Amino acid sequence: SPVAIVCVGMAGSGKTTFMRRINSYLHGKNDPPYVINLDPAVLNVPFESNIDIRDSVNYQEVMKQYNLGPNGGILTSLNLFATKVDQIVNLLEKRTTPDPSNPQKKPVQHILVDTPGQIEVFVWSASGTILLESFASSFPTVIAYIIDTPRTASTSTFISNMLYACSILYKTKLPMILVFNKTDVKDASFAKEWMTDFEAFQAALQEEQAGDGMGEGGPGGSGYMNSLVSSMSLVLEEFYSHLSFVPVSSRLGTGMEEFFAAVQEKAEEFKQDYLPELQRRR
Ligand code: GDP
Ligand code: MG
Repeated sequence: SPVAIVCVGMAGSGKTTFMRRINSYLHGKNDPPYVINLDPAVLNVPFESNIDIRDSVNYQEVMKQYNLGPNGGILTSLNLFATKVDQIVNLLEKRTTPDPSNPQKKPVQHILVDTPGQIEVFVWSASGTILLESFASSFPTVIAYIIDTPRTASTSTFISNMLYACSILYKTKLPMILVFNKTDVKDASFAKEWMTDFEAFQAALQEEQAGDGMGEGGPGGSGYMNSLVSSMSLVLEEFYSHLSFVPVSSRLGTGMEEFFAAVQEKAEEFKQDYLPELQRRR
């Protein structure tokens, strides 16, 4: 059955590059996906998209007409687009089921969704929620949370990125895959270690604090940060246990097999755990 993959992540984490990579990977497997771009402000989309928000709303015009700044412009564009979600889901349902008048045409197995650079505009807006819930009510839907691995290599950026991912998991209530991108620049084994071995994370934390003079005796002067981050990581341990972890390089194309294996696993999880919950809430 088809599955929808929604790419979210901080601006610059590599969502669009990742989309391009998984798109060409699926084309290479002779399994072309259905591709949706929901970023109204992007200048170039480096992949062929079937639905592009820019075809139905002009972000520059929206900004001018409603006298908005960039974030307001993106949000309003998304709101305008969300009013058409029923048509989009109808279209998707047609493309993901066999066409009796054209049996040669293979039904689509994957729906790929790219989202605006500003993560909060999509995740925390009413229209983002409407779009996600509409996808999820028709298809198993998984979130691919894209992480800029080289920029998350310190314990404090790591933990804030994980907390953000955690809040998105609870907001969307959809299964999530953590995609550690840009592993051509920085290997993600440190992240794997920190996610599975709390002691290793603690050790890294202490080492960093000693290094920047913010440790016990330093000018920061306190074990406060230390104990805060330690207790947060206990919460995160529970969170990690629900996630898949995949290191990739969108630049080189590594990690694709692992990513799609995780997608299959999460799609099953969606059917077993998330779908009953979604139906119950309705
Ligand atoms: P988005 O804002 O999340 O859509 O991020 P983009 O896909 O536009 O990528 C942001 C920057 O990161 C661009 O300069 C990309 O070339 C770069 N980038 C994306 N993926 C990778 C990767 O796997 N490795 C490296 N080295 N750079 C990457
Ligand atoms: Mg992008």
